[in-house]
Amino acid sequence: AKGAGRNTLRFFDPAMQAAASERADMEADLRRALQEEQFTLHYQPVVDHAGMVTGVEALLRWLHPAKGMVSPAEFIPVAEQTGLILSLGQWVLEAACAQLVAWNDNPQTQKLSIAVNVSARQFRHPDFSTHILDLLRTSGANPYRLKLELTESLLLTDFEEAVIKMGELRSIGVSFSLDDFGTGYSSLAYLKRLPLDQLKIDQSFVRDVLTDPNDAAIAKTILNLANSLDLGVVAEGVETAGQRDFLLREGCRAFQGYFFGRPVPVEMLHL
Ligand code: C2E
Ligand code: CA
Ligand code: CA
Ligand code: CA
Repeated sequence: AKGAGRNTLRFFDPAMQAAASERADMEADLRRALQEEQFTLHYQPVVDHAGMVTGVEALLRWLHPAKGMVSPAEFIPVAEQTGLILSLGQWVLEAACAQLVAWNDNPQTQKLSIAVNVSARQFRHPDFSTHILDLLRTSGANPYRLKLELTESLLLTDFEEAVIKMGELRSIGVSFSLDDFGTGYSSLAYLKRLPLDQLKIDQSFVRDVLTDPNDAAIAKTILNLANSLDLGVVAEGVETAGQRDFLLREGCRAFQGYFFGRPVPVEMLHL
């Protein structure tokens, strides 16, 4: 009886109820946002060893009519739980491909790549690769300039299926990055078997790379590992010249972070 009482209490917990209704509000808001085109992409430069921009990462932004800019960290999980991520993810891919095509005319932009974040639910959809193949065909975007960013947990849930999907897309030129590398639990055996092109060193290791010997060791280990497996590496969250110099000395050749440029609307990119 005591247990049931506690459950009842918990059921009417006002904090939980508030959280649940906030989520329901956000779901309704997200649906409307998709219809009313309140989403936009910001682009953050990825630079090479010499500081030249080689591509960008597309980062989703929601311009909410009342709340202003809502962070993807807040709405992506809700979109994922409600399944709205399928339409939202498709919108992001379409917008990125349209941007690639728009960049074709200008010699300064025609070689840039765009990296797009893919959520677990989106990737697991049985038609994921078909949708992207169709989109590349209809948009005319160059598959060699599209990079897809996946996370470790997403890949490990259905490993064999993931390998097949990645293979289908890689065969036409799409490349794959493992995002937030080092924060998950992928084993080296898995890593070796995944058809990947690059690893992204998570920003949590880059932040204190100059002051925390453990983070420095992890960053070096990732760079060595990538080198032995013939994978590229992008260091994320580089905010200072010191961090860049350390990573450069350790063999890193691609960087992303506020030191080089924040995510901005396309017309504000310095190329
Ligand atoms: P992420 O893919 O790891 O993206 C990097 C995040 O780090 C971005 O946050 C970016 O603005 C931020 N960042 C970049 N440079 C620096 C830096 O030097 N210092 C610091 N402190 N932060 C930096 P953002 O834009 O808020 O995105 C958060 C997450 O939301 C992303 O993490 C990604 O997981 C997710 N996300 C964003 N756009 C999309 C999307 O289109 N689809 C999906 N499925 N997820 C997305
Ligand atoms: Ca990413
Ligand atoms: Ca990341
Ligand atoms: Ca992240």
